[in-house]
Amino acid sequence: MPTANQSKQIESALVVDDSAPQRQHTVRLLQELGVEVIYEAGNGNEALELLALLKLPPGLAVIDLEMPGMDGIELIQQLQQKGVEMPLIVASSREASLLQSVETMIQALGMNVLGALQKPLSSEKLMSALHAFKPGGNVSQKRADPGPAICEDDLALAIAERQIVPFYQPKVDVQTGILKGVEALARWIHPERGVIPPDHFIPLAEACGLIHDLTIAMMDQAMQQAAVWHSRGLPIKVAVNLSPLSLEQPDFMQRILDLLGRHSLAADRLVLEITEGSVVANKGNSLGMLARLRLKGFGLSIDDYGTGFSSMQQLARIPFTELKIDRSFVHGAHRRKNLRVILQSALDMAQRLELVTVAEGIETIEDWRLLQSSGCNIGQGYLIAKPMPANELPIWLKGHHRRLPELRVEGDDGIARPE
Ligand code: C2E
Ligand code: CA
Ligand code: CA
Repeated sequence: MPTANQSKQIESALVVDDSAPQRQHTVRLLQELGVEVIYEAGNGNEALELLALLKLPPGLAVIDLEMPGMDGIELIQQLQQKGVEMPLIVASSREASLLQSVETMIQALGMNVLGALQKPLSSEKLMSALHAFKPGGNVSQKRADPGPAICEDDLALAIAERQIVPFYQPKVDVQTGILKGVEALARWIHPERGVIPPDHFIPLAEACGLIHDLTIAMMDQAMQQAAVWHSRGLPIKVAVNLSPLSLEQPDFMQRILDLLGRHSLAADRLVLEITEGSVVANKGNSLGMLARLRLKGFGLSIDDYGTGFSSMQQLARIPFTELKIDRSFVHGAHRRKNLRVILQSALDMAQRLELVTVAEGIETIEDWRLLQSSGCNIGQGYLIAKPMPANELPIWLKGHHRRLPELRVEGDDGIARPE
C-alpha cells in the first residue's frame, strides 16, 4: 500500500469531474493519501467560480478531460490565461497516446503538470504522479531563486546604466553545424546579485512600461556587436526578442531604424523574434507593425511555435521569414512519437510557407540527428552552446570547429565532389 508520506506536503486539492461516482472515487483516494481539504467541481465553470472565491489556489488539481460545456483542456487554458498556478494532474479513460499529447500541450503552456493518468485512477497511479511534486515548485519557478523582489527604480537604473546586456546563443546549420547567427538573450549583470535571468525582470519591465527602453537598449548593444563581428569577417545574423508591447508602440520602428543607421547595418542582418501567441492576438494593430518591419527588410521569426494554438491560415497572413519550434516539441523528440509527429508537421508546414525552420532546445545528439533527418534548417540548444557573453564567442567558435565532423550529417565528410 502506498503511504501518505509523499503527499503530506499537499494539504488541499480540487477535483473536477462531471461524473459524481468518479469524482468521489478520486476524493477518496486523495483522502487516503492524507490530503485534508478537498474541493469538488462538476465542470470547468464551477471550478473557475470556486477558484475565484479562494484566496490561494489549492495545492493540486485533478482534472477530467472530457466534460460537457468546458472540457478539461479549455479549463487548463483558462487557468493559464488567468495566471492560476497550481500543480495539475489530468485524468481520462482515453488512450495513452492522447494523454501524452495533452501532457505535452500543458507543459508547453508553461503549466506544472505532474501527470496525465489513465482512468480508473488508483492510489498507485496518483502516488507516482505526486512523486513529481516539489513543494512550492512550478515550471516558472524552476530557475534560481530571484532573491529579494526587484523594484521598478532599480530596473530603470539598470537599463540606463547598461547593466542589462545581451548574452548570445549560437544558431547553427543543422546539416553542417556551421554558425549562421546568434540570439541575443537579456541578462542583468547585477553588482551584488550576479547574473539575473530574463524571466525575473522582463515581466516587470512589461508591467511598468520599461520594456521599450529595455528592448531599445538590447537592440543597440546587439547591433553594435553585429557590426563588430561583421567587420571581423563573421557575417552572422543577430536575433533579438521583441515584447508584443513593442509592436503597439507607434515610434518603435523609427527608433530601430535610427539605430540601424547609427551602426551602419542592413535590416536583413537582424531577426526579430516574436512569440506566436502575441501576434495572433493582434492587439493595437501589431500585424500592421510586423508588415512594415518586413517591408523595411528585417527578418521576422515566430518564436515558441506550437504553444500558441494558431492555425496555418493565421500564420500565413503574417509576413514571417522564420519559424522557431518551441523546445517542448524538440527536447526528447527522438524517443517520443507524439513529439516527432508535431515536429514533422510543423517543419512540413513551414517548408510549404517557405520559412526557415529553427529548432530550439536541442540538448542531445539523438535529437540533433532526428532534426537532420527531418530536414530542419537551423538548430539551437545546449548541445551546441549555452548563451554566452560576446567576448566568449570567438573561443567557443574555435572549439566548435573541431566538433563539426561529429555534428555533420552522418556519412557526409564535408568534401564536395563532382556529381
Ligand atoms: P526564448 O526567446 O524562448 O529563449 C530561449 C530560452 O531557452 C533562453 O532562456 C535560452 O537560454 C533557453 N535555452 C536555449 N537552449 C536551451 C536548451 O537546450 N535547453 C533549455 N532547457 N533551455 C535552453 P533565457 O535566456 O532564460 O530566456 C527566457 C526568455 O526570456 C526568452 O525565451 C524570451 O522570451 C525572454 N527574453 C530574453 N531576452 C529578452 C529580451 O531582450 N526581450 C524580451 N522581450 N524578452 C526576452
Ligand atoms: Ca526567442
Ligand atoms: Ca522560444
